[in-house]
Amino acid sequence: MEAVASRRVGRRIGIFGGTFDPIHVGHLVAAVNAKHALHLDLVIMMVANVPWQKAEVREVSCAEDRYALVQAAVGGVPGLEAGRQEIDRGGESYTADTLQEMADADPRAELFVLVGWDVAGELATWERIDDVQRMATLVIVNRPGAGRPRGLDGDGWRVAEVTVPNLEISSTDLRARAADGRPLDYLVPEAAVRFIRSRGMYAGGG
Ligand code: ATP
Ligand code: MG
Repeated sequence: MEAVASRRVGRRIGIFGGTFDPIHVGHLVAAVNAKHALHLDLVIMMVANVPWQKAEVREVSCAEDRYALVQAAVGGVPGLEAGRQEIDRGGESYTADTLQEMADADPRAELFVLVGWDVAGELATWERIDDVQRMATLVIVNRPGAGRPRGLDGDGWRVAEVTVPNLEISSTDLRARAADGRPLDYLVPEAAVRFIRSRGMYAGGG
């Protein structure tokens, strides 16, 4: 019995990376359901500093504002946290670096990387993907508008799939709504809507 007790496994930590420009209930519903299904102790909504795959395509809101939105959104939800490691590290954000930093800080932690179907189909483009494979279990959640990616099983990944309510919500649509004055209410947590309004975020279109 004692031997078992002393080999207590580490915390199970999920990392849900995103631009969160803005965060919405699609992200949050996915996070809490993955947390529940996989018995995670914590899911960190990890705000990308420079989302290198997006920065060339459109102007991304400043990282501190996106982080403030995530903080406002997760406030009071047990087991969900806003993560700023990628902002503090600066530069372009790579999940491989984030995982390494977390493993160094807590070597016993078991790490999980959460992605929706759209992102799961693009993993081959990630920087140092073999490091990500080695350090984490991939958690895939369904997302409307994207097909379920094939070929991940048996491709070196440890994979867990979690089925979540299909919510057809995207930050792209929310930015368009804000730009032409349509409501964000109930698609984005109230405290985050207040922050968007107070800062005039997305008001100019884009
Ligand atoms: P954008 O339209 O700007 O790309 P987004 O809504 O896709 O924004 P991201 O920050 O790009 O949000 O996504 C972060 C992560 O959340 C990705 O893994 C993505 O697949 C997942 N995700 C986003 N929206 C949903 C949703 N409605 N249901 C499930 N997963 C989602
Ligand atoms: Mg996206």
